[in-house]
Amino acid sequence: MLSWTVLGGSPAWPNPGQAASGYLLESDERRMLIDCGSGIAQELRAVNPPPLTDILITHFHADHWFDLVPLHYAFRYGSWRDRPKPLLHLPPGGRAVLDTVASVWDGSVETFEAAFDLIEYDPHDDLRLGDLHITFAPCLHYTTCYSVKIATPSAVIVFSADTAPTERLARFAHGADLFVCEAALGDASNDSSERGHMDAAEAGREARRAGAKRLLLTHIPEEIGYDFVRERAGAEYKGPIDLAMPGLRIDV
Ligand SMILES: [Zn+2]
Repeated sequence: MLSWTVLGGSPAWPNPGQAASGYLLESDERRMLIDCGSGIAQELRAVNPPPLTDILITHFHADHWFDLVPLHYAFRYGSWRDRPKPLLHLPPGGRAVLDTVASVWDGSVETFEAAFDLIEYDPHDDLRLGDLHITFAPCLHYTTCYSVKIATPSAVIVFSADTAPTERLARFAHGADLFVCEAALGDASNDSSERGHMDAAEAGREARRAGAKRLLLTHIPEEIGYDFVRERAGAEYKGPIDLAMPGLRIDV
């Protein structure tokens, strides 16, 4: 069993009523929050899943991790304080980032360590957590960021995180049962500049090249128009397409 539930999929300027990046991944043995962007702590509390085993952060843009701040209070002082601490998997250098952030209110990395067991993952290495086999691929983004592949013996989900199209991404996502891909731009077809995001047509193209069985588009600013997004992706990719809306759960 492997499932992906959207808690939020907003870009950095959040869509009304939608938190930023945050997804609940559940397998037979693990329950992992992937990204914890602004607004995710309250979405998670509303869903109130059984205890998390893991939290994984793809990169340190605010819309992918800021709610670790309110979430850590759940485990220090809030109603989840008796729950086991989840493992918090951070990109390399993550401990120093959290130490700097907490220093603003005279805290330190220990502030977060009171709530989570911190680990910096090595993106060149595999991560094995119970029945999950996790691998990483570098994104083409404005800061260090990793796409994530989560495999169990029966299913594979690939999450692009934030990235412009790359040759590497389609290879990395090859054969995925579910490809969760960002589509943060409106129409980038005439934009040849170096950039760190893609549009829906490019996401559809990546999904087609990867041979993905199903595509979930996320990180979509609502002003682009959801029909437009679906239409452009559908022109490139003929498999099933969903748009990331809070509460959407996909079992693969
Ligand atoms: Zn980003």
